Amino acid sequence: MILILLGPPGAGKGTQAQRLQDKHGLVQLSTGDMLRAAVAAGSETGLKAKAVMDRGELVSDEIMTGIISERLNDPDCKNGVILDGFPRTEAQAEALDKMLAEKGLVLNAVIEMKTDDDILVERITGRYTCAKCGAGYHDKFLKPAVEGVCDKCGGTEFNRRSDDNAETVTSRLKAYHEQTAPLLPYYRGRGVLKQVDGMAGIDEVTDQMEAVLQAI
Ligand code: ADP
Ligand code: AMP
Repeated sequence: MILILLGPPGAGKGTQAQRLQDKHGLVQLSTGDMLRAAVAAGSETGLKAKAVMDRGELVSDEIMTGIISERLNDPDCKNGVILDGFPRTEAQAEALDKMLAEKGLVLNAVIEMKTDDDILVERITGRYTCAKCGAGYHDKFLKPAVEGVCDKCGGTEFNRRSDDNAETVTSRLKAYHEQTAPLLPYYRGRGVLKQVDGMAGIDEVTDQMEAVLQAI
């Protein structure tokens, strides 16, 4: 199964992708996480990407399609993947179509997480992840059961992203509306676009995602 989660930064793509991964054995492919790993490793791609990411702009289509095309060949992707943060431009969507056709894979659904822009700053500025296992949390909306201890792995160190600040959110939202939102009609026209209410509570969104999966 190949799923795309589409929505602005903070819509809840990563949160729901982690849940789908845990429940259905699909692999979450977050291009943002891949770029952050490249930045941390100090690779050539990481060096190129860092300044662009800090400005809240988009990394080049060429780099992104290269990363995804390579990753899709890994054996763990055989059971299916959830694309989280890719594609983000029409050129990336077209490149994805081409690479799926070449690999004999079919896009099953694109799930739009519909949200209002005015809630996204609070979502993004409150976001943090476990440094050990990457589980995602929020200061207000998703706290660990025991404060300061990761529910999943017991880790006690957490990270916040350098681009998760109110200033960068404005450029990231602009990039979403100008470059990514045009993918909605592109996928609607192909009959693969589904929607969930990204404004609902996290568990309610999970229920809606499950209903979409059951229907496909
Ligand atoms: P994205 O991957 O789309 O950028 P995330 O999944 O990282 O977004 O969610 C952003 C933040 O908002 C996280 O801290 C997450 O815990 C929280 N969050 C996700 N979905 C919801 C929701 N439906 N309601 C409230 N908070 C949410
Ligand atoms: P995310 O973790 O999805 O919020 O992505 C963080 C940042 O990584 C974005 O603001 C972009 O700078 C970059 N990025 C992630 N995915 C892509 C993509 N598919 N195309 C271009 N840039 C991307």
